[in-house]
Amino acid sequence: MEVLLPHSLDEALEIKAEHPEAVPLSGGTDLMVEMNFGRVRPPAIVDLSRVAELTTWREENGHAFLGSGVTYTTIVREMQAYEPLVQASRSVGSPQIRNRGTVGGNLGTASPAGDALPVLAAYDAEIVLRSRARGERSLPWNLFLTGPKKTATAPDELIIGARWRRLRGPGSFSKIGTRNAMVIAVAGLCLVIDEEHRRVNVALGSVGPTILRATQAEERVSAALASSGTWDDRSAPLNPQWIDEFAELVATAAQPLDDVRGTAAYRRHGCRVLSRRALGWALSERRLPTWL
Ligand SMILES: Cc1cc2nc3c(=O)[nH]c(=O)nc-3n(C[C@H](O)[C@H](O)[C@H](O)COP(=O)(O)OP(=O)(O)OC[C@H]3O[C@@H](n4cnc5c(N)ncnc54)[C@H](O)[C@@H]3O)c2cc1C
Repeated sequence: MEVLLPHSLDEALEIKAEHPEAVPLSGGTDLMVEMNFGRVRPPAIVDLSRVAELTTWREENGHAFLGSGVTYTTIVREMQAYEPLVQASRSVGSPQIRNRGTVGGNLGTASPAGDALPVLAAYDAEIVLRSRARGERSLPWNLFLTGPKKTATAPDELIIGARWRRLRGPGSFSKIGTRNAMVIAVAGLCLVIDEEHRRVNVALGSVGPTILRATQAEERVSAALASSGTWDDRSAPLNPQWIDEFAELVATAAQPLDDVRGTAAYRRHGCRVLSRRALGWALSERRLPTWL
C-alpha cells in the first residue's frame, strides 16, 4: 500500500487529483480500525496530518469556520464560545481518541452516531469541499450527508471544513449510552436557540439512517415561546403542556431501528428525555444569560 504524505493543501489536492482512489486519513481513529479489522484495504492512503491549513479554526464575518483537521482536544481547549460543540467533543472516545480524532473524520465517516454531526446540523452548517480541478464548493450539511456512512464528497475532493453562522443563544449537546465515557451514542441530541431569528433548532443522532432535524418540534416550540412572551421576557414561563408536546414531537421525528445498542422504543424514549432536558437547560440559561 502506498502512503502519500502531502505537506500543504495544494499538494494534498494534487495527490487526490492524480490518485482519486487514495483514501484520506486525518486522525486515523476510524480508518485504522476499519483496516485492522480487514474491512477496508485501500490501494493508497493520503495522510493529511501534516497539512497545517486544515488544522485551524477562525471567526470571520459573523461566521465560524472549523478546519477538517481540528481535533476534539483543540475544540475543547479553544472553542468555549461553541458550548454544544465542546460538549460533543468532550464526549468522544478517550483523551487519546480526542487528541487524534477530527471533525473532518467524523464527517468523512458520516456515521449516524458521529457526535459532532448533530451539532453541525443544529448550527445549519455548510460543509466545504475542494478539488484541484473544480475549486471549492459548499454543501448544506443535509446535502453533504447522503445516507448512512455516505457523503457527497467526489473522489478527487477533500473535506476542507465546516462553516456556520454564529448563533446568539444558549444550547447543548447530550447523548445516551450504556456508560458515561468511551461510548457510542444510543441517542444524541443538540438543541440551540437562535435569539436573533427567534428559533429553536434540534438535531438528532443515532436514531435514524443519518442525522435528523426535528423540524415540526422546532416550529411548535419556537411559536410557543412567542405566544407565551418568552422571547421578549426571558423569565416568562413556558406552559408545561408545550414542553410535553415538544418532547413528543422530537420523539416522533426519530426514525430509530432496533439494534445491538438499543431498541427503537428505547431510542424514541431517549429522544423524549434528551429533548425535555435540553429545552429546560436552555430556558434556564436564557434567564441567566452568560452567552450575551
Ligand atoms: C475507541 C474509539 C472511540 C470512539 N468514540 C467515538 C465517540 O464517542 N463519538 C464519535 O463520534 N466517534 C467516536 N469514534 C470514532 C472516531 O474517533 C470519530 O469518528 C473521529 O471523528 C474520526 O476522525 P479521524 O480524524 O480519526 O478520522 P479518520 O479515521 O482519519 O477518517 C475517517 C473517515 O473520514 C475520511 N476523511 C478524513 N479526513 C478527510 C478529509 N479531510 N477529506 C475527505 N475525507 C476525509 C477518511 O478517508 C475516512 O473514511 C471512536 C473511535 C474509537 C477507535
